[in-house]
Amino acid sequence: MTQARLQFFNTLGRTLSDFVSIEENKVGFYACGPTVYDYAHIGNLRTYILVDTLRRVLEMNGYDVTHVMNITDVGHLVSDGDTGEDKMEKGSRKLNKSAWEIALYFEKAFFKDLKKLNIKHPTVVCRATEHIQEQIEFILELEEKGFTYKTPDGIYFDTEKLPDYGKLALLDKAGLEAGIRVAMAEKRNPTDFALWKFSGSTKRQMEWPSPWGVGFPGWHIECSAMAEKYLGKTFDIHLGGEDHIPVHHTNEIAQCEAKNGTIQANYWMHGYFLQLNKEKISKSGVSMRLDSVLERGYNPLAYRYLTLTSHYRSHLNFTWEGVSGAQTALRRLKKKIALLPDGGKRDDGFVKQFFEHINRDLNMPKALSLVWKLLDSDVAPANKKATLLWFDQVFGLELDKEELEEKIPQHIVKLADERLQMKKERHFAKADELRDKIVEAGYQVHDLGDSFTLSKM
Ligand code: AMP
Ligand code: ZN
Repeated sequence: MTQARLQFFNTLGRTLSDFVSIEENKVGFYACGPTVYDYAHIGNLRTYILVDTLRRVLEMNGYDVTHVMNITDVGHLVSDGDTGEDKMEKGSRKLNKSAWEIALYFEKAFFKDLKKLNIKHPTVVCRATEHIQEQIEFILELEEKGFTYKTPDGIYFDTEKLPDYGKLALLDKAGLEAGIRVAMAEKRNPTDFALWKFSGSTKRQMEWPSPWGVGFPGWHIECSAMAEKYLGKTFDIHLGGEDHIPVHHTNEIAQCEAKNGTIQANYWMHGYFLQLNKEKISKSGVSMRLDSVLERGYNPLAYRYLTLTSHYRSHLNFTWEGVSGAQTALRRLKKKIALLPDGGKRDDGFVKQFFEHINRDLNMPKALSLVWKLLDSDVAPANKKATLLWFDQVFGLELDKEELEEKIPQHIVKLADERLQMKKERHFAKADELRDKIVEAGYQVHDLGDSFTLSKM
């Protein structure tokens, strides 16, 4: 059976392109990892579900995938413009723990979230703090080639020296505001970025000696140095959230091109942001953790399902109604599959259509709708099951696992029903009384517009 061609939208050039790997049947891909100064929010996790989906689609297409992810545990400053404090040092002060402690703590919490979401562990996980030497060597080469200059505050990359700087973001260099005003006095061009920052008079917890003085690496250099170490000078795919286009990935491309004379990766893919009430989610502002979703009685894979209902290149607005609908759909799906007999084989027609969707720039919403189409089709029941479970190698929804329905006792559901009725009739005192009873019994009721969900406390 011929399979649909694998195509991705390449941010570099803004075109839908056929995917051709450097080495036959092998793919090297690098996805920017978390900055571990706080818990990941569900927006970050949307991006890591995308990373996992890409990996699974590549594997489904027969590629042997090397998936590298860094842990940013130093050097990511509060502002993308090389100003402000290091997020790790700020987090350390906030939590009254050392920067090293919080890095390990939040890294662990991050991987716990990934596991809950059935995200495969990367082939290589590398921490920035454990690759300082590689970063210093990278900067030394840039220095030798004449791309760096020194200011009182650090070693900078001179973007003026690279004629096509900004090609990923289609940056209009001339039109760029001297946005990075504070440091502008010392920088030659507004787009120049720090490769190494000096500790100066501030005592830092994370600092290292270097040929230029004691300090710490910039955020962009860590990814380029580690990606090269584990994947080589040019690899297949580089992925991150959309915020990485104008600064982080633009700068990675620039420094790699300056040092190696080649493009760092052939395909650049970017996941669009998850929003919360149409607002941007960020660790320091409006935020929500996966655990907050789970506390309300949702299955983590209901969140995974929700993210698959929208294309990765569109914004997704998170709502409780949305995750509730996803949970209902996932439960229905699992129940239907559990009723189907084993022993079937894959249906060629549906397999072909599935490849058409997933191979066309990861069209997961279409792939998901195929599931329902297949269930309604006249394909033999056992073959339906075999085909759906084969699809699930890409969805990662554990469709063959029995749904662990939260066992909420009927009398508690009844109390919550009564409470909703009281609220509708505006008998609020009575409604509160009923809520107290539910809480006394060890359950929590969460309002959802015109309905509710219940969870164990
Ligand atoms: P950080 O931990 O801030 O370094 O971000 C980790 C990853 O999450 C990066 O690839 C970001 O681009 C991505 N990201 C940040 N905010 C969001 C969001 N609201 N929605 C989706 N991805 C995000
Ligand atoms: Zn990165």
